[in-house]
Amino acid sequence: MVESTNTTQSNSSVNVPDKVLHCDTCGKPVTSVARVVIDQEYDRSMSRALYNCPECFKKKEEERHHRLNQAG
Ligand SMILES: [Zn+2]
Repeated sequence: MVESTNTTQSNSSVNVPDKVLHCDTCGKPVTSVARVVIDQEYDRSMSRALYNCPECFKKKEEERHHRLNQAG
Protein backbone atom coordinates (compact mmCIF):
# COMPACT_ATOMS: atom_id res chain seq x y z
CA MET A 1 0.00 0.00 0.00
CA VAL A 2 1.33 3.31 -0.97
CA GLU A 3 -0.10 6.25 0.69
CA SER A 4 0.48 9.35 -1.22
CA THR A 5 0.37 12.11 1.20
CA ASN A 6 -0.47 14.97 -0.93
CA THR A 7 0.27 17.76 1.41
CA THR A 8 -0.60 20.95 -0.23
CA GLN A 9 1.90 23.29 1.19
CA SER A 10 0.09 26.51 1.09
CA ASN A 11 3.10 28.60 1.61
CA SER A 12 1.20 31.77 1.31
CA SER A 13 3.86 34.17 2.28
CA VAL A 14 1.88 37.26 2.83
CA ASN A 15 3.50 39.94 0.85
CA VAL A 16 3.15 42.57 3.45
CA PRO A 17 5.59 45.33 2.91
CA ASP A 18 7.78 46.18 5.78
CA LYS A 19 6.45 48.76 8.10
CA VAL A 20 6.27 51.82 6.03
CA LEU A 21 7.91 54.51 7.99
CA HIS A 22 7.35 58.12 7.45
CA CYS A 23 9.92 60.80 7.70
CA ASP A 24 9.10 62.89 10.71
CA THR A 25 10.27 65.96 8.92
CA CYS A 26 8.82 65.86 5.45
CA GLY A 27 6.36 63.02 5.96
CA LYS A 28 7.68 61.15 3.01
CA PRO A 29 7.14 57.40 3.24
CA VAL A 30 10.48 55.75 3.35
CA THR A 31 11.60 52.19 3.73
CA SER A 32 14.76 53.04 5.54
CA VAL A 33 15.06 55.91 7.84
CA ALA A 34 17.74 57.21 10.06
CA ARG A 35 16.86 57.37 13.66
CA VAL A 36 17.93 60.63 15.04
CA VAL A 37 17.87 61.22 18.70
CA ILE A 38 18.28 64.80 19.59
CA ASP A 39 18.72 65.34 23.25
CA GLN A 40 20.33 68.71 23.02
CA GLU A 41 17.37 70.58 21.67
CA TYR A 42 14.68 68.59 23.35
CA ASP A 43 13.99 67.89 26.95
CA ARG A 44 15.05 64.53 28.16
CA SER A 45 11.49 63.72 29.00
CA MET A 46 10.44 64.07 25.43
CA SER A 47 13.58 62.92 23.82
CA ARG A 48 12.18 60.53 21.32
CA ALA A 49 13.69 59.13 18.22
CA LEU A 50 12.91 61.03 15.12
CA TYR A 51 12.73 59.24 11.85
CA ASN A 52 14.21 61.12 9.01
CA CYS A 53 14.72 60.19 5.44
CA PRO A 54 18.31 60.41 4.25
CA GLU A 55 17.66 63.83 2.80
CA CYS A 56 16.24 65.30 5.96
CA PHE A 57 18.82 63.51 8.01
CA LYS A 58 21.52 65.24 6.04
CA LYS A 59 19.76 68.54 6.41
CA LYS A 60 19.49 68.12 10.13
CA GLU A 61 23.09 67.19 10.37
CA GLU A 62 24.08 70.27 8.45
CA GLU A 63 21.85 72.45 10.58
CA ARG A 64 23.38 70.94 13.63
CA HIS A 65 26.83 71.69 12.39
CA HIS A 66 25.77 75.24 11.69
CA ARG A 67 24.45 75.62 15.18
CA LEU A 68 27.53 74.15 16.68
CA ASN A 69 29.67 76.47 14.65
CA GLN A 70 27.63 79.46 15.64
CA ALA A 71 27.57 78.49 19.28
CA GLY A 72 31.28 77.83 19.03
ZN1 LIG B 1 12.31 63.75 5.03
